[in-house]
Amino acid sequence: MKIAVVGTGYVGLVTGTCFAETGNHVTCVDIDRNKIEALQKGITPIYEPGLEVLLARNIKEERIAFTDNLKEAVEEAVVIFLALPTPSDQDGSADLKYVLQVAEQLGDLITSYKVVVNKSTVPVGTSEKVAAVLSKKIAPELFDVVSNPEFLREGVAVEDFLKPERVVVGTRSEKATKIMADLYNPFVRQGNPIYFMDPRSAEMTKYAANSFLAMKISFMNEIANLCERTGANVDWVRMGIGSDHRIGKRFLFPGIGYGGSCFPKDVLALNLTAREHEYDFQLLQSVLTVNKHQKKVIVQKIKRHFKDALQGKRFAIWGLAFKPETDDIRDAPSLEIIEALLNEGATLNVYDPVAMENVRGRFGNRITYSANQYEALDGADALLILTEWSEFRNPDFDKMKDLLKTHTIFDGRNVYALDKMEELNFHYESIGRAVIN
Ligand code: NAD
Repeated sequence: MKIAVVGTGYVGLVTGTCFAETGNHVTCVDIDRNKIEALQKGITPIYEPGLEVLLARNIKEERIAFTDNLKEAVEEAVVIFLALPTPSDQDGSADLKYVLQVAEQLGDLITSYKVVVNKSTVPVGTSEKVAAVLSKKIAPELFDVVSNPEFLREGVAVEDFLKPERVVVGTRSEKATKIMADLYNPFVRQGNPIYFMDPRSAEMTKYAANSFLAMKISFMNEIANLCERTGANVDWVRMGIGSDHRIGKRFLFPGIGYGGSCFPKDVLALNLTAREHEYDFQLLQSVLTVNKHQKKVIVQKIKRHFKDALQGKRFAIWGLAFKPETDDIRDAPSLEIIEALLNEGATLNVYDPVAMENVRGRFGNRITYSANQYEALDGADALLILTEWSEFRNPDFDKMKDLLKTHTIFDGRNVYALDKMEELNFHYESIGRAVIN
């Protein structure tokens, strides 16, 4: 099948590459010329495990191409995926300007039947808005608008796309249903479902999923904060509740608040949808409040330990990305923590395996950047762990002790066992567990 993907970011590039992998012919289009030029040379502008190999294979087989020309991309395509940004607007609602602008352009370009698929995360009713924009310029028999929210996780995006736990397709058109089934059937051969539903339910499903996960994280963060105050250990509590199938083991890790390009904006947007419909979604508002607070927890611990005197203190930071295996720093808790510590007069030396350039783009020379995790420790008053990259799990602790000025670790991700920290004589503060030494 001939496919166009509009927007070649984390979602669009993975979507395009994976559809090419199943034999389709894909043209990815983006307004960012630098991105397109890099991709034409086979260079992926984002870090996503497994993507580069897949991309190289499909470029070689001429199943995927890149352009900044929308007309060229959609001309022969039967299906047009919109994988465009939907960032938070000032009031917290999802800003639809990118999606609706492209819909306007498509209105001028479509001359034969196309399925226009919304892969962006968009509020309930957006399919109808896109259809209304297209209807102004083209006849109804020339298009169907489908909602097909994406559930991939950055860091394992390729795997998630190739083997989705479910695919959600919102459409009332039989013709579009058949085309979408043909496209997705190769990905669900193990028997995972494709749920065909109405577009409004599909749009709501994405927000409900992300908001539920954000709530699960926030619940555990609250439990962790209470564990600290009551002398319980959140690790045990997590395992104790997670083995109950009704609760499940995943997404129970406490930390420094959720971040990333999706949860923060999607929880805000769903809350706004509720307000627009005069519904007081109290649970969601609590999730927002709890997460805001949790992003401050580690700085509070540091200030308490150093008796509010952070002026001139030097901290090493390991991990900047909002989670491991990605270079994405959008709404990463690390950004707020860095800003808060700089405001207190501290100096920072940071390290992340892949997200450094993105952070440099944001903080420039206000902080220093280390070539490796140990260099960051040199002369530091404490180490902060903000992302649980694998390479931080079993480091050379003796080397760390040699480099750190004081043997102090603030661990926002509970990477180390308490007895190990006790044995190594580190002052160690984590989330929802006792302070060591
Ligand atoms: P992104 O910012 O990485 O990519 C969006 C791309 O669209 C950019 O490359 C940008 O240059 C391009 N673009 C903007 N305007 C354009 C235009 N007029 N024509 C062509 N290209 C244009 O965003 P993303 O993370 O891929 O997210 C896209 C959507 O998918 C969002 O709605 C997001 O909420 C949703 N989503 C993201 C994830 C994720 O993990 N990142 C997961 C599921 C859903």
